[in-house]
Amino acid sequence: MTDEAEPRWRTVAAATGLAAPDGSTRPTIFAEMTALAAATGAVNLGQGFPDADGPAWVREAAVDAIRSGANQYPPGRGTPALRRAIADHQARHYDLALDPETQVLVTAGATEAITAAILALAGPGDEVLTLEPFYDSHAASIALAGATHTTAPLVPGPDGFRLDLDALAAAATARTRVILLNTPHNPTGTVLSRTELEAVAAAAVRADAVVVTDEVYEHLVYDGAAHVPIATLPGMAERTLTISSAGKTFSLTGWKIGWATGPAHLVEAALAVKQFLTYSGGAPFQPAIARALAEGDGDVRELRDSLGARRDTLVRGLREVGLAVVEPRGAYFVCADASPLLTAELPDGAALARALPAAVGVACVPVAAFCRTGSPTAASLAPWLRFTFSKDASTIEEALTRLRRLR
Ligand SMILES: *Cc1c(COP(=O)(O)O)cnc(C)c1O
Repeated sequence: MTDEAEPRWRTVAAATGLAAPDGSTRPTIFAEMTALAAATGAVNLGQGFPDADGPAWVREAAVDAIRSGANQYPPGRGTPALRRAIADHQARHYDLALDPETQVLVTAGATEAITAAILALAGPGDEVLTLEPFYDSHAASIALAGATHTTAPLVPGPDGFRLDLDALAAAATARTRVILLNTPHNPTGTVLSRTELEAVAAAAVRADAVVVTDEVYEHLVYDGAAHVPIATLPGMAERTLTISSAGKTFSLTGWKIGWATGPAHLVEAALAVKQFLTYSGGAPFQPAIARALAEGDGDVRELRDSLGARRDTLVRGLREVGLAVVEPRGAYFVCADASPLLTAELPDGAALARALPAAVGVACVPVAAFCRTGSPTAASLAPWLRFTFSKDASTIEEALTRLRRLR
């Protein structure tokens, strides 16, 4: 079957592990692991959302907004106060100057911003280049657009997962319409260095590609690591659409308030699609997030410090169990090479992840689920597992106690 004859949902299903080899749909590995965790009473370090809700005063602000009448469609681009707060945030943290009227778009989470941007900017015959492993919605959006997904691998080493710069240069071609970046990175915890970002910028300029960058973990960096938005590199502001969200920064993932910022022509392109995905949403959450962005730096610092401590606990514990851990500098996941635990019966991370809930009562996800099926990166990361430290300290301790039974 040609791509044109195939219903687009099948392309999406195939790109995201939703399709079984016989073409029927099945749950993704994430849904499968969450169901297994529930069925076995396992501690779920698979799904990456926080146990603890975000700041009470931000939640109260949303309640107040409902009481005071923020209950009808907000403007399609987002409320003026939130757009101003997003522009102020980019100026304060990164010295990026944005016109809130034309260069800021509020979306239904980062997910909608990513999908709208890729649908707007790429189509059949175009290539969209991502890192590999990659966040699942990145692959889904490329499949929805009917574009071709190409990748440049992040390779584990003593300095963490680092971008293969030669592979990046080779993968960025004249057909590359978009480079879809993610830093800090899910699942590896990589915070792309300035050198890596310069290589991405050079590749984008050479291919005349737009950069769409998913920065939802921008504030969740550890060990004094600095998140550098690629839009701040020389010449990049005019070809970069930067995406972020309140979900991870304020532990309010269910509110689905995200945004895209950048040059007016790219914001306009994303808006044209977003208009007919949701038009607008989250009326009472928008004023609350506007306040969170303006007044919530202390809460963000607290979350970062708390997550940093939980990261240390999880890294130390996984090492004690015998896993080869790559210490993440950002986001809220730890990736570990589980080779020492693999056997003839459990030959890879996927098999081990499926066995762990019943065996010891811990759920995680295989890193290969974030790779293209059958790719060289999927093969080299086949023994790897991803664990989240977005859960309470006591939940992480309990998971480690259970994992110690493996020794
Ligand atoms: C969680 C996550 C998202 C989704 O953000 P929402 O604002 O909830 O839509 C996007 N990208 C990455 C890398 C994520 O981990």
